[in-house]
Amino acid sequence: MPQPPPARPPLSAATQVAAVIGTPVRHSLSPTLLNAAFAAEALDWVYAAFEVPDGRGADAIEAMRVLGLGGLSVTMPHKGAAHDAVDARTDVAAALGAVNCVFRDGDRLVGDNTDGPGFVDALVRDEGVAISGRRCVLLGAGGAGRAVARALGVAGAAEVVVVNRSPGPAARAAALAGSGGRVGGPGDVRAADLVVNATPLGMGGGGRAPALPLDPALLGPDQVVVDLVYHPAETALLRAARSRGATGVNGLGMLVHQAAHAFTRWTGRAAPIGAMAAAVATELAGRAPSDGDS
Ligand code: NAP
Repeated sequence: MPQPPPARPPLSAATQVAAVIGTPVRHSLSPTLLNAAFAAEALDWVYAAFEVPDGRGADAIEAMRVLGLGGLSVTMPHKGAAHDAVDARTDVAAALGAVNCVFRDGDRLVGDNTDGPGFVDALVRDEGVAISGRRCVLLGAGGAGRAVARALGVAGAAEVVVVNRSPGPAARAAALAGSGGRVGGPGDVRAADLVVNATPLGMGGGGRAPALPLDPALLGPDQVVVDLVYHPAETALLRAARSRGATGVNGLGMLVHQAAHAFTRWTGRAAPIGAMAAAVATELAGRAPSDGDS
């Protein structure tokens, strides 16, 4: 018989508060992920979501300081403002110019970015996929694409070829990947070991037919195709990849692991990954496709 999770302590004046700031933030899955983690560890912490208007991100960082919040997650459109407002940044947050997690180091507020480490953990730890020495193609060069480009480079990818609609962001993402980074085109997909979709194409919803970010004829067996989209669980890209013999991985693992890194930053403990993944899977099962955000 599975054991029920330990009961969380009742809320009191001693309860530590963490939160996510963003707009829109109503569909954020972070409260589900982090409250499940606090409950599983029986920690006297609670996690809320604050709708913070565009342009007020720095004020929200100041509020964290004044209110003594134990941790803060930052989502769109405040990641750049949070980067500028904190007292110090981790190397990854400084390189990306974007902060998605703020933690305390004594009196200082430190900005981190957990998307790249979350992506790597989801692939390497959960899926057993090696990144070191692999030829990678990255489709998309927005906030998530830049984090993945850097993470692939740090993890030792032989090549990180960025394919993006706009050339400027593509060049910026390729530079973040280090010496193996370059801008390429769709034809590079054929020779790739690992293909990552970091565009929103395939999220579905809104009654539109799901779009594919590439021609599936470019895919074949021995390739791993990762779609950062996690809802629906099987996107048109993953379906096409699997039908051509490739291994498909969706973005749910990255979502869980980026939150797990925040949990560890705030509490100093290893995150209860299983409890977090189960909670978010239950939450997503009740949602329409595309109705989710980290
Ligand atoms: P973003 O900053 O808005 O970047 C979007 C990227 O997709 C850009 O490179 C953009 O190209 C490209 N793009 C958008 N529409 C396109 C179209 N119609 N045709 C071709 N390219 C298009 O978004 P993001 O924050 O990086 O997020 C990207 C995806 O990753 C979203 O689906 C998001 O939900 C997902 N995500 C997942 C996780 C996770 O934990 N699993 C975390 C973060 C994000 P241009 O540069 O040309 O505009």
